[in-house]
Amino acid sequence: GEFTTEVDVLVIGAGPGGYVAAIRAAQLGKNVVVVEKADVGGVCLNVGCIPSKAMIHAAHTYEHAQHTESMGITMENVKVDFAKVQEWKSGIVKQLTGGVSSLFKGHKIQVIPGEALFVSENEVRVFHGYDVNRYRFEHCIIATGSRPIELPAFPFGKRVLSSTEALSLTELPKSLVVIGGGYIGIELGTVFAKFGTQVTILEGSDQILPGFEPDMPRLVERKLKKLGVTIHTKALAQGMEETENGVVVTAEVKGEQKQIEAEYVLVTVGRRPNTDELGVRDIGMNLTDRGLIVVDKQGRTNIPNVYAIGDIVAGPALAHKASYEGKVAAEAIAGHPAEVDYKAIPAVVFCDPEIASVGINEKEAKEKGIDYIVGRFPFAANGRALSVNAGEGYVKLIGEKGTNLVLGAQIVGPEASNIIAEIGLAIEMGATLEDIELTIHAHPTLGEVTMEAAELALGHPIHVM
Ligand code: FAD
Repeated sequence: GEFTTEVDVLVIGAGPGGYVAAIRAAQLGKNVVVVEKADVGGVCLNVGCIPSKAMIHAAHTYEHAQHTESMGITMENVKVDFAKVQEWKSGIVKQLTGGVSSLFKGHKIQVIPGEALFVSENEVRVFHGYDVNRYRFEHCIIATGSRPIELPAFPFGKRVLSSTEALSLTELPKSLVVIGGGYIGIELGTVFAKFGTQVTILEGSDQILPGFEPDMPRLVERKLKKLGVTIHTKALAQGMEETENGVVVTAEVKGEQKQIEAEYVLVTVGRRPNTDELGVRDIGMNLTDRGLIVVDKQGRTNIPNVYAIGDIVAGPALAHKASYEGKVAAEAIAGHPAEVDYKAIPAVVFCDPEIASVGINEKEAKEKGIDYIVGRFPFAANGRALSVNAGEGYVKLIGEKGTNLVLGAQIVGPEASNIIAEIGLAIEMGATLEDIELTIHAHPTLGEVTMEAAELALGHPIHVM
């Protein structure tokens, strides 16, 4: 029969939103239960951020090994054993998800396998095989994440992959059509291109990585072309036909019909929030047309004891956003005056070169009527970048004219993903361009580019004219 357990805080979903929220709630003295229907770690650890970054690193390593002649090093017989690459990647995932499980144990957080369904404002039923049990909670945090959107003309199957299947292919495809040039499509497209797959990218808008200012993706596009990738922008994938060894994709590219043959199609056109099978509408929860849960600045839904975080609420679908919201929700439940502030949320694409952005860009500054100053410093003038053979790209720093408050940064180049953290901190702290300029940055490091860009914005650069 069904039994009922009483808990302080019930967390649904053990991704970067849910597991972080659970740990923080436990730290604040709550008795916490986490319900997870698949794997601890969610999309991010199992089939998202972590495995993709491992594959990216493996692909970079392979590519770099083939291009060291300019440094006077010649490598021969560089080979890929793709099954081994996968094994290495799975080992990393296992280590990290195991780490989350130990953290749960250490905080006395119980993980219940199964799928949660709301029956009321303070109760869920959890289905696990033939087992059904009830959990009554004082507070609940929903962190059920998202899943890939399927295109009607390209149903997922043997030849049509989502990012999940693409990340676990055991053999390198000879050719691949990627539908959708957003960050997931570009990251995975880069991986396969570097491993030698013939990649074609179809993107609907007029640039890949829409959302980033056009100068940034331009450098990425140049590199992809060098890797032999064909990029079609203003392209509409219309349909496909399966053949013996693959597919023929039909697409309209800038008004012209094209047929592209490939072994597989990878569809990365966005993700859908997992809110449709939760029973939340039945208990009167407010959702948007897109199925996102409506929340206030503490993550609270219109049902006051139920919170929602991560990919199921508005904003960029990113792991660090989910974790941040998880901490805020747990603190709010514990009665703290926590509130989200998205002013300094970074966005990173782990393409080649890397792209990172935080705060506002020039276009947004203009739209907001902000009087701004800007410094754009090239990695080609940074000694470390040249000495690690990565002198492409730039950092652009934006400050408010007059106050010199740091407003944002856009970086394209080596370690952009790490360098952006400094500017996030600057915005969070209300730092000025002078603060960055007067911070002593170790030499020679890639990190010096922010200092140089600040000097540039202030009108007295040392290393450029
Ligand atoms: P999820 O991680 O999706 O976790 C939700 C969990 O809830 C899942 O484990 C699911 O099984 C469980 N669940 C769902 N419904 C129920 C239910 N009814 N009952 C019980 N459990 C349920 N983000 C970055 O910031 N950086 C990156 O580099 C990055 N790379 C990515 C690469 C790829 C290929 C993909 C697909 C995504 C990537 N992301 C990245 C996005 C990131 O993975 C998500 O933003 C993040 O995982 C969202 O966290 P979450 O906690 O909201 O949900």
